[in-house]
Amino acid sequence: MGFSFNFRLEKKKPRKYISERKIKLRVRELAKQINKDYSGKCPVFIGVLNGSFIFLADLIRELSIECEIDFLKLSSYGDSMISSGKVKLLKDLNAEIKGRDVVIVEDIVDTGLSLKFIKNLITGAKPKSLRFATLLFKKDISKLKFKIDYVGFEIPNEFVVGYGLDFAQRYRNLKGIYVF
Ligand code: 5GP
Repeated sequence: MGFSFNFRLEKKKPRKYISERKIKLRVRELAKQINKDYSGKCPVFIGVLNGSFIFLADLIRELSIECEIDFLKLSSYGDSMISSGKVKLLKDLNAEIKGRDVVIVEDIVDTGLSLKFIKNLITGAKPKSLRFATLLFKKDISKLKFKIDYVGFEIPNEFVVGYGLDFAQRYRNLKGIYVF
């Protein structure tokens, strides 16, 4: 991903891209599908910090199945909008996931490098099954060779913030998704 970024961001106002209402409806639809797919099971949802915390919180509150949660933290872009292309594990899992149904929950999949890294990491812990959910998917940028099971919205190559997503740690509290 690359964005030429030669203006002062603080002087730009982010523009609404996906409304709070649209997100709510879509999260409900995803939860409905997950309820069906995991009926009678108790999957472990693994949120990828920091960005996925709001999506994960909203998603699990729409579920009627039993579930558990845990978190992973990977190195981020820092204060940049451009992926460094390197992924590092900053916080490992606490949950025992061997033999469990696991769903990884991402805020956004861009190049797919983070998800690929997570897939290798989690596969090594021998879960019974492994699926992926993301609120946003930059399909044209992604180099993923595997399918994402639950996608909220496919979006073009734009840098977005809000609903958990930040720029330089700011804007996570916006209720919708915004683009610069
Ligand atoms: P990937 O490894 O797929 O390139 O990037 C995944 C991570 O990059 C996301 O979890 C997120 O932290 C960050 N990221 C990618 N695109 C965006 C974006 O448009 N906005 C924000 N705020 N973060 C992004």
